[in-house]
Amino acid sequence: MIDAVRWFLERVAEYSLSAVSSWDHFTAAIGEIGGTFTRLTSGLAWPYLLASATIAGVAYCLSRKRDVPSAPSFRAFLFPRPVYGHPSALLDYRFYLVSALFNVLLFVPMLAGIGILAEKMGKVFLIGYLAWESPATLPVPALFAAALGFYLLHDFVNYWAHLLLHKVPLLWAFHQVHHSADVLTPISAYRAHPLEFFVTAILRAPVIGLAFVFYERIAPQDLAVTTIFGVGLVGFMYGLSGPHLQHSHLPISYGPLLDRVLVTPIVHQTHHSLDPRHHDKNFGVKFALWDWLFGTLCVPDRHECLQFGLVGMKKDDFATVGKLYLGPFQRAVGLVRRSLASGPRTRSQDVVRSEGL
Ligand SMILES: [Zn+2]
Ligand SMILES: [Zn+2]
Repeated sequence: MIDAVRWFLERVAEYSLSAVSSWDHFTAAIGEIGGTFTRLTSGLAWPYLLASATIAGVAYCLSRKRDVPSAPSFRAFLFPRPVYGHPSALLDYRFYLVSALFNVLLFVPMLAGIGILAEKMGKVFLIGYLAWESPATLPVPALFAAALGFYLLHDFVNYWAHLLLHKVPLLWAFHQVHHSADVLTPISAYRAHPLEFFVTAILRAPVIGLAFVFYERIAPQDLAVTTIFGVGLVGFMYGLSGPHLQHSHLPISYGPLLDRVLVTPIVHQTHHSLDPRHHDKNFGVKFALWDWLFGTLCVPDRHECLQFGLVGMKKDDFATVGKLYLGPFQRAVGLVRRSLASGPRTRSQDVVRSEGL
């Protein structure tokens, strides 16, 4: 047992520090930042951005056809100065620059470490304990079904992780950072405290381990049918569905059916809404399917004017990059202290207190 714990800690340390273990590793890690817009594994790769801009372009043309006020130009429609020059958006840009550096040097290696530990645990459980062996060959339809299945399973865990981030007061203290944005731009998606990445990564670890064991023996040339340009086909298709518009000022609906399947712009914007009718709705990250299935979906009329932010938030508590990183720890410590001082109480009381932080 002690050996296993030591092995675990050594692996975490190894992956956490891999970016600074040598100058070559450090420069390679910094070089990763440059590939943000060209690497298809990056959510900001230019084909995905172009697809989102195209969807916004269609929305702009439709808005001009309808009898509703429209922006004087597509540029003004897509990048309105009051949104992109808002103090909340400016803070998002600063937070993104700092977190990009942290991500490359620290968080990505740690998440990779969690992934490799997940693979190890998957092997121990499925192969060592259950003696299960993944099939060496699979027909093409089964390979596609597996690729889609794992993608959905991954997002299913995302849904429950996001719900926990809202319902568990200690986790909410950290997830508040994401909800503190007063305006939404695609960069607001990256206003998230790193602790929530770790929580989500740990919860997703069993799925990663399962996928690793499943794919371990399947030949790479067989798997190639489920990839495009070297990345998974399902993820690539999702990247083209306009995910950047989820965090934007454009309340775009993809229609009644797709709004129930995909997290479309209006679906996620509703999750950020200050309106009490929209609280605790739309926890889906990529697919709204889970919200639809579990009764947490809310798709308002696209003409509703949504206001974003945190209920009862003290603006000053979320005004700088430092406060976004460190404030949650202070609030979490305060929450624990109050909890210890007042003894056991109901979960609803906890939620009310944490909402008012
Ligand atoms: Zn949330
Ligand atoms: Zn969001």
